[in-house]
Amino acid sequence: MCDIKALVNKVADEIIKNKDLLTQLDQEIGDGDHGINMARGFENVKIKINQMNDSAPVSEYLKQIAMTLIASVGGASGPLYGTAFLRASQNYKNESNLEDFKNAFESAIKGIKERGKATFGEKTMLDTLIPAFDTLCESMDAKKSQKECLDEMLISALKGVEHTRTIIATKGRASYLGERSLGHQDPGATSCGIILKAGIDFINGENNQ
Ligand code: ADP
Ligand code: MG
Repeated sequence: MCDIKALVNKVADEIIKNKDLLTQLDQEIGDGDHGINMARGFENVKIKINQMNDSAPVSEYLKQIAMTLIASVGGASGPLYGTAFLRASQNYKNESNLEDFKNAFESAIKGIKERGKATFGEKTMLDTLIPAFDTLCESMDAKKSQKECLDEMLISALKGVEHTRTIIATKGRASYLGERSLGHQDPGATSCGIILKAGIDFINGENNQ
């Protein structure tokens, strides 16, 4: 079983490490606070989860992450990430297998869509998450190994991040720019890519030990 506390710490560290990149991307098409918001939120996530019992179920970790992000991230992304982790926590059955992850991931995406009234192709976090989820489903249907499923999911997620450069924002602050948002990578899509990469790198590293 994966060490959830160590995994969350790794994810948080990667967000904190990429604070300047996220700030710079949000300066280009938003108000420049995404890096600060996310780094502050994940600093608090580290404090919160490091106080938790090692034997707490993964769903409880997800819930505490959600509460912390809702309380401390702010902006559009705080409630959206908060909703995502909260929905995931409510739907994670603590079986700690890929099926369980898939179901929780699906409900997280549904939560973001409902909360943000956005869908694929609007230059948001969803442009990373939806292709990642679709690829995960395809790889699982093809009965690939857990490692292959996660690796393929990550490739799609990162392609999704890149793809946001080529589309016009129709949701969030960047939508005020209209066509001028073209050529810029979406900050929220980027932070989603960082989170997925950090989580998958951690799981792959742990399984190679
Ligand atoms: P704010 O835009 O309030 O300053 P942040 O800078 O923290 O908030 O987050 C901006 C990111 O939030 C965007 O890059 C985008 O990915 C995401 N976002 C904004 N609005 C929506 C929405 N309606 N649905 C999904 N994601 C959104
Ligand atoms: Mg912003």
